[in-house]
Amino acid sequence: MKHLAPVPLCPSHNDRMKVNPTFTGYACPSDGCTVTYTEEVGYFRVVGGVKQRPLNVRRCSKCAVHLYLVQRGENRLDDIWLCPNKECPAKRLHLV
Ligand SMILES: [Zn+2]
Ligand SMILES: [Zn+2]
Repeated sequence: MKHLAPVPLCPSHNDRMKVNPTFTGYACPSDGCTVTYTEEVGYFRVVGGVKQRPLNVRRCSKCAVHLYLVQRGENRLDDIWLCPNKECPAKRLHLV
């Protein structure tokens, strides 16, 4: 899988997530937290090994890939979300 830099944060804990090979994505390291992020689905929880409905659906306006959280702002509008697509045209505009 592709390694992302900066790494995604868990939207529930603001923890830096760790690579999770099971879902070829990132998982929250917090005890009892099953939040996972993949480019295909975005953020979702895993209960009993089963993917649950996505937590939020934020897609890149340019390439439609699911964005990931890299920094919490003072309020939700100031949160910073990145597009994981290296070829994305938005990289040149306002992201990164
Ligand atoms: Zn978490
Ligand atoms: Zn994009």
